[in-house]
Amino acid sequence: MIRVSAVHPDSIAQELGLREGTQLLAVNGRELDDFLDWEFLTAEEEFLLHVRRPDGEESEFEIERPLGEPLGVGLEAPRIRRCANRCDFCFVDGLPDGLRDVLYIRDDDYRLSFRYGNFATLTNLKPHDEARIIEYRLSPLYVSVHATDPIVRRYLLRNPTAPEIIPQLRYFAQHGIEFHTQVVMSPGVNDGAVLRQTLDELYQFGPAILGCSVVPVGLTEYSKHQLVREPTASECRAAITLIEERAGVALADRGAHWAFGADELYLRAGVELPRAEIYDGFDQVENGVGAVRWLQQRIQREASTLRGWEGKRIGVVTGTAMAPLMPMVLAPLSTITGSRFELIPVVNSLFGARVTTAGLLPGAAMQQALRNRGDLDLVLLPGESVNDDGLFIDSMSLELLAASVPSDVRVSRDFSDALQEPIGV
Ligand code: SF4
Repeated sequence: MIRVSAVHPDSIAQELGLREGTQLLAVNGRELDDFLDWEFLTAEEEFLLHVRRPDGEESEFEIERPLGEPLGVGLEAPRIRRCANRCDFCFVDGLPDGLRDVLYIRDDDYRLSFRYGNFATLTNLKPHDEARIIEYRLSPLYVSVHATDPIVRRYLLRNPTAPEIIPQLRYFAQHGIEFHTQVVMSPGVNDGAVLRQTLDELYQFGPAILGCSVVPVGLTEYSKHQLVREPTASECRAAITLIEERAGVALADRGAHWAFGADELYLRAGVELPRAEIYDGFDQVENGVGAVRWLQQRIQREASTLRGWEGKRIGVVTGTAMAPLMPMVLAPLSTITGSRFELIPVVNSLFGARVTTAGLLPGAAMQQALRNRGDLDLVLLPGESVNDDGLFIDSMSLELLAASVPSDVRVSRDFSDALQEPIGV
């Protein structure tokens, strides 16, 4: 059963009298479990919909509508699938106490993998889930492989019953499912020979594996430091060598680079970032793979639309990780817009200084850094630090932060989004 959370005005759903709280029970006699059932079973022009209204009355509607016309309902958020693993590097273990409850949920959900590109391990799939992945053709999926060796993988996931990943991927691939994969690299466990084996086996698997990224393990002050550590610069360099070897073979063999290192891996290694061309379309940019090159490309493409900023002073808030790389993005942006950009790297006051990613910056730390910056015409905040409800990780709202900063504030994912409209227009 799925519950309606909103009905759009002038929609089919409104005509039918559906409203918030209406339960969507079945389509063509098939019970609805979640948004996937809803989307796939209602994709036809005609279907029979069975609902229960908030007062308990049940009705059936024969729906007939032009293909592609939405029904006009918003659905309540699905119950997230919980993770069956206990990785030593899990982000949840690295959280301090006292944050929003939802942040402590270890999610491992193939549905969100298909929809939003979240990585899933596929260790919690039931036969029903496997059947849905195939029936609904949920492809591509984003899969955390970590290691193809089953013993190493089970150790990393702290899950002695995790199924072997290669047969699992093969089963889905035989039914037309493709995968983007990642390895979170834990030094001394799945780097070195294990990483080489993982890259080899995933590549030899065939074209159903679209690519593999390697991301260095990231920890906070609260992580299990007695069990896991971050890689050193030389360990990151060794991983880059393996990745680039594999990418060279893949390029000659399949015309795509296939293997990628996260920006963070290059940063920690002290190695210059590769060119934009090696990222094969930036499929894993949300995973921090090619993010800097992607930003540079976006800015160049949108250059002609960024008008009216001559002579402005713009502050750019970022985490300390990106600070050394941001000048590569801000220099061309300054040339294009005629503005002066000032980088404002903010230390993470909630997780500790070793957490350097912009996405985890608390509102309070940014507020502190910006409280006396009335000299700026505009401040850009990292888009990944705010959730859909306008809250930072420490639950401070964007509204509250903006009200306490003495200059205009905008949230930005790629600069071109926030600079389309000049200030004061
Ligand atoms: S798979 Fe590992 S890192 Fe991901 S949520 Fe589960 S325990 Fe945490």
